[in-house]
Amino acid sequence: MKILFILIFLTICLSNDSIAQEQFEKETIKTKSGDVEITFIGHGSLILKFNEKLIYIDPFSKLADYSKMPKADMIVITHHHQDHLDTAALKNIRTEKTIVIYSKMCEGKVERGKVMNNGDVQTVMGIKIKAVPAYNIVHKRDDGKFYHPKGEGNGYVLTFGDKNIYIGGDTENIPEMNELKNINYAFLPMNLPYTMTPEMVADAAKSFKPDVLYPYHYGETDTTKIVELLKGTKIEVRIRKMK
Ligand code: ZN
Ligand code: ZN
Repeated sequence: MKILFILIFLTICLSNDSIAQEQFEKETIKTKSGDVEITFIGHGSLILKFNEKLIYIDPFSKLADYSKMPKADMIVITHHHQDHLDTAALKNIRTEKTIVIYSKMCEGKVERGKVMNNGDVQTVMGIKIKAVPAYNIVHKRDDGKFYHPKGEGNGYVLTFGDKNIYIGGDTENIPEMNELKNINYAFLPMNLPYTMTPEMVADAAKSFKPDVLYPYHYGETDTTKIVELLKGTKIEVRIRKMK
């Protein structure tokens, strides 16, 4: 009887644990100034935890219940599209003290944010943040306008100690990527018609050669293609649940 109880107890413990682990993937990056724990929420959304500070990237309520998530120290928004700028998610995780960084087009939709334009650099909570261009050069809407016109949206290079993490935002393989230096971890979008095909992502990655590439915001795109395309290069492709 006793053994039966122990077995039941163990089964409950193990199943609870697996649910928690299944929910969101996590990964830890070592830097000289402390660990960065990445939580892969999905689509364009991530959480970066650095020295107990929580940085939310493009939080989006469709992917997670943000009312159950811890409050943000900083929220970084790439652009104003609703899958990146989601006011409902922001309400759940924002406090008086939360620093919000966004692109110019987000102004008016969210209060008390700090605008960063392409090229702007600032250091917040010991993290150097550089806003870089993110735009289309090929894919357009039916009316002939680009989904992401140049200058509207940002990508960000975040420096944690000696490691650079590049969050691409909604972009294609633009020439400015050639100027990116020492990118250790890169997130690049791979979703038609809004951003890139796997071939374009491969071209982008080859231009600045990150140590690790995480394709993200990839919708239904076949992720085996990008792995195939970067075989034989020094770029390690890591596929995470980032539809
Ligand atoms: Zn977009
Ligand atoms: Zn998007």
